[in-house]
Amino acid sequence: MKKIKLIIALLVLVPILLVPIKLMSLGKKIELGNLKSYIFNQPSENNKGIEIDYLGTSCFIITYKGHTYLNDPFFSNPNFLELVSGKYPNRDTLINSLIPQKENISLITITHGHYDHCLDFPSFMPYFNNRAKIVASSSALLSLSPWIKNNKDLLQYPIERMAKPNWIYSSDKTFRIYPIHSEHQPHIGRIKLLTGAYEKPLAQAPGPVWQWLEGHTYSYLLDVMDNDTIVKRLLIASGEIPISSLEKLHELDQEKQIDLLFYPYWHKEKCGTKFEEAYQKLKPQKVIFHHWNNFFRDPNKPIQMIRSSDINNELKKKRTEGYPVSIMIPFSKTSI
Ligand SMILES: [Zn+2]
Repeated sequence: MKKIKLIIALLVLVPILLVPIKLMSLGKKIELGNLKSYIFNQPSENNKGIEIDYLGTSCFIITYKGHTYLNDPFFSNPNFLELVSGKYPNRDTLINSLIPQKENISLITITHGHYDHCLDFPSFMPYFNNRAKIVASSSALLSLSPWIKNNKDLLQYPIERMAKPNWIYSSDKTFRIYPIHSEHQPHIGRIKLLTGAYEKPLAQAPGPVWQWLEGHTYSYLLDVMDNDTIVKRLLIASGEIPISSLEKLHELDQEKQIDLLFYPYWHKEKCGTKFEEAYQKLKPQKVIFHHWNNFFRDPNKPIQMIRSSDINNELKKKRTEGYPVSIMIPFSKTSI
């Protein structure tokens, strides 16, 4: 009997202990010096003054002529204990030290409901302007509702409730986005973690990691506009873009080709093939890989890559194969 109890205890304990070990070994030191030639750099003759701040994982702030767009508000990289307890330190000091440019946000998009795409939403709220719009899956918006309800001005666009897919414009008309149905990649083998969707507004904001449900995953086609003219077209990809969505994007290409594709690259095999498929279909001018940094690491410590991304070798390989790929270092800035 004792033996059986011991076996059961081990069966429960071992996987629980394996999780932090796995998380601790996810990151790998990266020599930034070796990546110099892969840092994104737009030649000045083609630079229209659109500023891009990269905050790691999939978080981007894009600013044009004083108007700001935000994708996937997450930069604080909580540790394992914070993730399981759901108790996160106040991140307002961190946001001020790490992110200087965040004023006048008029459009926010969220690719899916996992914590590494949404957690720092409240830290950005003071910087939303009073006509700001947020576009996300209905589930992600419902999970953020305890915070959103404190900002009555924020206009919500749950994608599943749109009569048909269409462009959504920021009120300043500087940005417009087109949601693209995408598929979240499996985390371990073929298993996807934290699937499911919320159907009702939450009474309390999600805390521990398992309360952040995916909902549905979307990529966003983003046009930066100037008086109805498209200055640049960007695609912020999340997960994988299925064939039907690639077809739709190809159709939208008739108006303008994609200048810059942001593609998630956290696993060289899982992301690699799908990236090539998307690239061949869309032929963007340039590509920036994102989601390759170890987001379990304190943002004040030196950057690590997620081991499975093998980002330095992958960049080299993809460039040799003719793909115009680059990266941005978390908490850096560029302009296009
Ligand atoms: Zn996710």
